[in-house]
Amino acid sequence: MAFRFASIERLPEAPSVHMTKGSLVHRTLELLFTRPPGERTIGTARLAHDAAVAELGGDPEWELLHLDDAAQQAFVADAWELVERYFAMEDPSAIREIGIELRLDAQVGDLALRGIIDRLELDEDGGLVVTDYKTGRSPGLRYEQSRLAGVHFYSFLCESVLGRRPSAIRLMYLRTGETLTAIPSEQSVRFITTRITAVWKAVERACTNGDFRPRPGALCASCSFQTWCPAFGGDPERAAIEAPLRIGQLAAA
Ligand code: SF4
Repeated sequence: MAFRFASIERLPEAPSVHMTKGSLVHRTLELLFTRPPGERTIGTARLAHDAAVAELGGDPEWELLHLDDAAQQAFVADAWELVERYFAMEDPSAIREIGIELRLDAQVGDLALRGIIDRLELDEDGGLVVTDYKTGRSPGLRYEQSRLAGVHFYSFLCESVLGRRPSAIRLMYLRTGETLTAIPSEQSVRFITTRITAVWKAVERACTNGDFRPRPGALCASCSFQTWCPAFGGDPERAAIEAPLRIGQLAAA
């Protein structure tokens, strides 16, 4: 149901503090990695963070959050804490990056797939490593594999575009300081292609039948479309009119 609202009807979503903070931290690290390795210190990270915060000024998402002064300060301070934790997890001057915020496109049958990789680097043996920063909490053991499925997809994109399978994929949880690592294999690549094909078939079927079902779970708490979701007593047919109106009201507030 959320896929119908977001990707088929393309309804606007209200920004969230969590997502906007994640973008700020990613931007800070992106700016940090524009410096030569020897200059990637906590001092230059602070400058990068200040520059990324200054960029927020012109960002409509930031305006729509309507944070008061105290909330803005807490937001910026918390984002900086995540950058400091990043420094506790690894030394950025030792990273041999070959791409930051790297966009990759690949074709699987009729499907055009696209992803943006936070960082692609070389390990000490010259192998490719995909790294993804996460600003939320690390998942419990039960959810580790499903979280890694996202980076396995990035690994699949790398192999399709660059012709080499990455030697490792990593999720860096900046909130908790944990890193999850997985080694892509023939089996994981096969799983990704099978899964992509199955998901696309399900999307086509749902589009043909108009049958998009809600699947309530933990993500409902942060879903922008809960108001129109039948699982919460909402009417999906009202979303196309009411979702843009809601964003308009937020902008005018
Ligand atoms: S509220 Fe939950 S079930 Fe409904 S659309 Fe959002 S994520 Fe899906």
